[in-house]
Amino acid sequence: MSLLKYLNETPKENLNISTIAFFANLEKVKEISPSIAKNILNELQDQRKNLKLIASENFSSLSVQSAMGNLLTDKYAEGYPYNRFYAGCDNVDKIEEEAANLAQELFGADYAYVQPHSGADANMVAFLSILMAKIQKPFLEELETDLINLTAEDFLKLREKYGKQKLLAMDLYSGGHLTHGYRFNNSAIMFDAYNYTVDKETKLLDIDNLRKMAHEIKPLIFLVGYSAYSRKINFAKMREIADEVGAVLMVDMAHFAGLVAGGVFTGEYNPVPYAHVVTTTTHKTLRGPRGGMVLCKKEFKEYVEKGCPSFLGGPLPHVMAAKALAFKEALSDDFKKYAHNIVKNSQALADSLMEKGVHIVTGGTDNHLLLVDVSKSYGLTGRQAENAVREGGITLNRNGLPFDINGPWYTSGLRLGTPAVTSLGMGVDEMKEIASIIDNILKNTKPAKTSSGKASKAKFETDLNIIKSSKKQVADLLLKFPLYPEIQID
Ligand SMILES: *Cc1c(COP(=O)(O)O)cnc(C)c1O
Repeated sequence: MSLLKYLNETPKENLNISTIAFFANLEKVKEISPSIAKNILNELQDQRKNLKLIASENFSSLSVQSAMGNLLTDKYAEGYPYNRFYAGCDNVDKIEEEAANLAQELFGADYAYVQPHSGADANMVAFLSILMAKIQKPFLEELETDLINLTAEDFLKLREKYGKQKLLAMDLYSGGHLTHGYRFNNSAIMFDAYNYTVDKETKLLDIDNLRKMAHEIKPLIFLVGYSAYSRKINFAKMREIADEVGAVLMVDMAHFAGLVAGGVFTGEYNPVPYAHVVTTTTHKTLRGPRGGMVLCKKEFKEYVEKGCPSFLGGPLPHVMAAKALAFKEALSDDFKKYAHNIVKNSQALADSLMEKGVHIVTGGTDNHLLLVDVSKSYGLTGRQAENAVREGGITLNRNGLPFDINGPWYTSGLRLGTPAVTSLGMGVDEMKEIASIIDNILKNTKPAKTSSGKASKAKFETDLNIIKSSKKQVADLLLKFPLYPEIQID
C-alpha cells in the first residue's frame, strides 16, 4: 500500500486524514531510507499484533505525534521563554509558555519546567537545582560574592561541599529507579547516596523505618518515587519526615503522573502540594510525548528554570509542543475517566491472577502496575516468563522483586501495567481474559535443564499448542480494540 494507491482506491468520502498523514510521512522517510520507513511500519504492525502490558509505555495520540514531526526540531532556544540566548525564538517562546502554563494548571504547581528531554534529565535538573538553592546560595552569601567572581580556591571548596551531600532514596530492587542513587548512575557519583528498602515481610514502605533512617542520615534530599511499586504513598507523611530532618522532599512521579493528573491520587496521595520539587516523565501514564518535566515550589524556580545551562543544552521545541497537547488532553474529563479505568483494570488483572493462585507482590495494587512473583508461582525466572509470554503475543518486562535472589538480569518477577491497554479501551472483562492467557502460558512453561542437569535460568520449554492458541486469543482481542484505527493500512 502506498499514499497514491490509497488516494486512488478510496472513495472520497472515506478518505481519512490520519491515514494520509501517516502515508505521507512514510513516503518522505522512504526517500532517504526505505529500511527506516519499513521499520516504522513494522513497529506499528508489531504493536497492533501484540498486547502491550509494559507499565512504563502507552499510546500517545496522533495529534501529539504530529506536533513532534516537523520543523520545530530545527530551532535552538537555550534559556527560557522571553529570555533566550538565540534570536528568532518568538514562536518557541509561545509554545514553551503554553506547555508550562498548562502543566501548572493540570498539577496545581507553582512552576513547571518543560524542557527536560527525559525523566532521567528531569532528575538531574532537580538535583542540581536543590544543590544550588541549598548549598551554593548560602555559600556565596557568606562570602558576599557570586559564581563568576568566586576564586578558584573557593570554587574547589564549594565542589567539595556538593560532594558531601546526602541523598536518601528507594532501593532499585524495592522499586526505585536507576537515577535514585544506584551506583552505576550519576546520582551515586554526585551524592553520598543511601537507599531504603520495602519491609522484608509485607514488601510495603515502612514509615517508621523511613523516619528512623532519615533521622540517622539527615539527607539533603529525601527522594520518594518508584518504577516498580504498586501501592499508593502518603506524601503528607513524607513531607513530615523531611521537615523533621530539614531535608528537601523530592518526588519522582514518572510512573504515576497520569494518575495524579487524572484525579486518582488526591489529597495526601498527590505529591504536588507536599513536595518541594516534583519530577516526572511525560510519556508513561501521562500519555504524552517521550520527555521529562520538573514542577517546583516558588523558592526553587530561579534554579530550576536554569536547567540550561546547569545540565541541559537546547530544549526540544517539537517535543515541548507535543507536551502542550498532551497536557491539554489530560485536562479533559475523558482523561479523568481514563486514569480511573487504568487502576480499575490493574486491580481486575491482579484479582483475576490471584484467583488462579498466582502470587502478586503486596497482594494487589493501588495504581497502574502489579508485580507477579513468577518464581513462587511457576518456578520460573522473570526472563523465562517474559519470553514465554511474548511468544504468546503479550509484551511486558521482567522485573527484579524486593530482595530478589535471581539478580537484576534473570529476576523473579514480571511487571504488568495497564496504561496502554486502557488507552485501547479495554476494560475489566478483557483483563480477566488476559490474566487467563498469561496464567495458561506460564503454568505450561518450565525451565529447561542445563547440560549438568540443573534448571536453566534462561532457557525454557513451553507448550507450543498453547502458545498458538494464546496468539490467536490475543489477535482476536486486539481486533476488537485496534490501535490507531484512524490509520487504515492493510
Ligand atoms: C522511567 C523513569 C525515569 C526515567 O525516565 P526516562 O525518560 O527513561 O529517562 C525516572 N524515574 C522514574 C521513577 C522512572 O520510572
